[in-house]
Amino acid sequence: MVALESIKQRLVAERQQLMHQLAELGASEDGSLRDDVDFPEGFADAAAATSERTEVLGLVDSLRRSLGEIDVALARIESGVYGTCVKCGKDIGEARLEVRPSSTHCVDCKAAKV
Ligand SMILES: [Zn+2]
Repeated sequence: MVALESIKQRLVAERQQLMHQLAELGASEDGSLRDDVDFPEGFADAAAATSERTEVLGLVDSLRRSLGEIDVALARIESGVYGTCVKCGKDIGEARLEVRPSSTHCVDCKAAKV
């Protein structure tokens, strides 16, 4: 049996950390960047700013994905189905959840899903 309470605490802590990182990047929870960033004058600088913005957006995107996985895991804890594979319904396994608490697929399904 998985220690749900400690897993939940880990997920919540991880979630807070992700939110903090997003805030530091200037992104809101829905992933949009604040528009109050002043772009410097001049074409070269604007291009650099654009490429930096693209990089930040990529980072924001991956943080938001992790956040989404955590939200799914938390919701599954609430509905009492946490720890079972979303695809085949088998136990994901405590060891796997220990490594990655936001796992939603068992090893078999994860390997099959490419
Ligand atoms: Zn499965």
